[in-house]
Amino acid sequence: MEEKIIAVMCSKAGFEYDIHSLVKAFYPECDVKVFVEGEKQYSSTEGLPDISLHFEEDCIMLGIMQVGEEKNTSAFQGMKIEISEQMERPEVKNSLKQLLYTGLSGHTEKTLPWGTLTGIRPTKIPMMLLEEGKDKEEILDYMKETYLVSDEKGVLSIEIAQREKELLSTLHYKDGYSLYIGIPFCPTTCLYCSFTSYPIVSWKKRMEEYLSALEKEIDFTAEIYKDKILDTVYIGGGTPTTLEAEELDRLLGYLKEKLDFSHVKEFTVEAGRADSITKEKLEVLKKWGVTRISVNPQTMHDETLKLIGRQHTVEQAKEAYRLAREVGFDNINMDLILGLPGEGEEEVASTIEQVKELAPDSLTVHSLAIKRGSKLYQWIDEHGITALNNTDKTMEIAAKGAADLDMVPYYLYRQKNMSGNFENVGYAKEGKFGIYNILIMEEKQTIVALGAGSITKRVYEDGRIERCDNVKDVALYIEKIDEMIERKRKLLEEYNIFG
Ligand code: SF4
Repeated sequence: MEEKIIAVMCSKAGFEYDIHSLVKAFYPECDVKVFVEGEKQYSSTEGLPDISLHFEEDCIMLGIMQVGEEKNTSAFQGMKIEISEQMERPEVKNSLKQLLYTGLSGHTEKTLPWGTLTGIRPTKIPMMLLEEGKDKEEILDYMKETYLVSDEKGVLSIEIAQREKELLSTLHYKDGYSLYIGIPFCPTTCLYCSFTSYPIVSWKKRMEEYLSALEKEIDFTAEIYKDKILDTVYIGGGTPTTLEAEELDRLLGYLKEKLDFSHVKEFTVEAGRADSITKEKLEVLKKWGVTRISVNPQTMHDETLKLIGRQHTVEQAKEAYRLAREVGFDNINMDLILGLPGEGEEEVASTIEQVKELAPDSLTVHSLAIKRGSKLYQWIDEHGITALNNTDKTMEIAAKGAADLDMVPYYLYRQKNMSGNFENVGYAKEGKFGIYNILIMEEKQTIVALGAGSITKRVYEDGRIERCDNVKDVALYIEKIDEMIERKRKLLEEYNIFG
């Protein structure tokens, strides 16, 4: 399948990323290229660009050709928006996005539920406004006027921000931290995977070395943060339960021995895939005081599971869930994905019904995201993007299912190139909220991250954030572990005046 290219020409640099994200949201099936006049080469043999944005002193002008069909000047649509010299860059950016959104919305007769918001953390805006003392109505008006979000998404993001604010109020922002440990191995690679994940079979023999490297990082964390309060711990990946029961026992035992868990509010392990879960492993997690686990079916359809490259059946996922209950876990999350190949309303409704019978404590509903480099990207090349269907209706079915299970939405994030341009929402029963998930989205506390491909984030008191990443390559991570630790030391040491 040949991808149609949409060429956008802008007269000013610095807005390429925003333009690209917004145009792509309207035309997910197209390859969007943004050119800046005088900077990037746009071949005149291609004719006029599909979209042009021109900055004047007092306005921005937009021109749209007949995108999707042969370009011709008679099909030109023009509009403009006023700007002024006094405007700061974020205001100019908002104006530019409003203009582009309005133009493309008119041209395609489509609206986007999140309006001009293309970033991954839309709840950060209502959260900031709540902290400034604004009330719900004021925030909703602002979100609608400034970002053109729908009523429904505006209300949802405010509701979530209010809940997040309350949940985070018990954390130690200044004197505390959270810990992430990455186990980047999986039984097989899923069709849509964009994480750091390697097939476990290739690494079994070197797991001793990987665990030793992690232990060095745990020692470092215990030393550098000996006076800080550990609030939450999250072991993710990959699939942590690809480790054997003895390996999990070693890792968790070491963690509990070296770090002070007396203030830990939440200790999560992503069990994830049913093809990695055994009773023995679940017992090890229970023994070391894990409070929350995830068993992720993604869908309750065997055909789709096969298609997305999971080696387990629906029945195995259900069995893994039952085992977890049997072992005594009272906080189990399930991840689902909407918009999977070949799945529409009927399939989503049946998945939700089956999930309801199991009655997990929380549900994370993802909209399929199409990442370059994933096998899904190639799959779309062969089958076309129209085979992926996430709609208002399927989102509604999932939301209703969560409500039927007495769950409320408590965190939300978006990814680039999501099916239907929707969002991922975490729902949970009262008292079963995943605090670490909120922390990741709101970026209010330092997260020390260990393991290949993990990213440590230091959050300063003035809100500034600095990051330091471990290499993704497992062999390199093992080899360069001392270097990784020294980089982290530089980031986390207390000498910084803002710390
Ligand atoms: S389980 Fe998650 S990390 Fe592992 S391959 Fe699938 S999507 Fe990737």
